[in-house]
Amino acid sequence: MSASPIHCSIDYFKPGKQHGHLAVPYSYNLGGWANLLLPITVIGNGPGRTALVIGGNHGDEYPGPIAIMKLMRELSVDQVHGRLILLPALNMPAVKAATRLSPLDGKNMNRVFPGNPAGTPSEIIAHYLTTILFPLADIVIDIHTGGRSVDFYPCSTMHLVSDPVQRREMVAGVEAWCSDFCFVYADVAGSGLLPVEAEKQGKIVVTTEMGGGEPVRASVHRITQSGLRNVLVHYGIVKGEKFTRASLGLPPLKWVQAIDREDYRFAPESGVWESLVEIGDAVKAGEAVGQIHFIERPDREPVPVIAPTAGYLLATRGPSMVAQGDCVATIVHEVDPASW
Ligand SMILES: [Zn+2]
Repeated sequence: MSASPIHCSIDYFKPGKQHGHLAVPYSYNLGGWANLLLPITVIGNGPGRTALVIGGNHGDEYPGPIAIMKLMRELSVDQVHGRLILLPALNMPAVKAATRLSPLDGKNMNRVFPGNPAGTPSEIIAHYLTTILFPLADIVIDIHTGGRSVDFYPCSTMHLVSDPVQRREMVAGVEAWCSDFCFVYADVAGSGLLPVEAEKQGKIVVTTEMGGGEPVRASVHRITQSGLRNVLVHYGIVKGEKFTRASLGLPPLKWVQAIDREDYRFAPESGVWESLVEIGDAVKAGEAVGQIHFIERPDREPVPVIAPTAGYLLATRGPSMVAQGDCVATIVHEVDPASW
């Protein structure tokens, strides 16, 4: 692939703490030579591993950007071992607009990897990560929530990669977030995901789904921030004492997975969604997790959405209005990581 048109204002190899920008060239009607500026901070302190931490891959998911901005300000150079690269707003136009997709090109940043240096702004940014930032990193952390469309029980997540060493490292990092659930997910909605590209390059990839919906509860901000810091301590990038669920007085976490398409439930018709189960609660096979009402046909019985197998409801629809084909529920099943 050809070189990136992105200009970085800081030197990734210089020790110390630097705040700067990635400048992405683009044009709009009142700005022929405009640049989209993405904030980036690098904290380097001697040899060691590099962690790349990303927020704002989707624009309407704010716990990650807030946690990363706090680290940018709070961490001093002597608290870091190796190198930390912090990108709080990967899809800045979408973060500013509170949208999942970029308002500049209509693209889903998490579906355009490996990217294209001659493409749209989202594709140019993806290509820069693929060719410049992922090769610099040992660990890639991409912080998501369900955005406005999905309400997730806050959890750390990963793909089941085939390399056993990479997988073990990822399992340990996902556990270090100390969330109640660690979730192994499947890609049921397209390809071109950021974590998949980083995994292909052999990186240790830790992702999250920290809640979702429009409001963000204080507890969700707290676990996003404490979990991120603890994962960085776990990998030896941030100095400090690592905590565990046991040291916090919490019960053991649950490893869960949803790797069959059947685990993801889609709205059979458009209508008004009614949740019938709290996220995080156990469900029985055949139990209705929600139902769809028909505002124009109140005489019609609502159509239930059924859990096909027993498990836990990990995520449900955010907005009450649903369109046919929207994902309205994710049913997960307990799994023992030792079985992989
Ligand atoms: Zn997301």
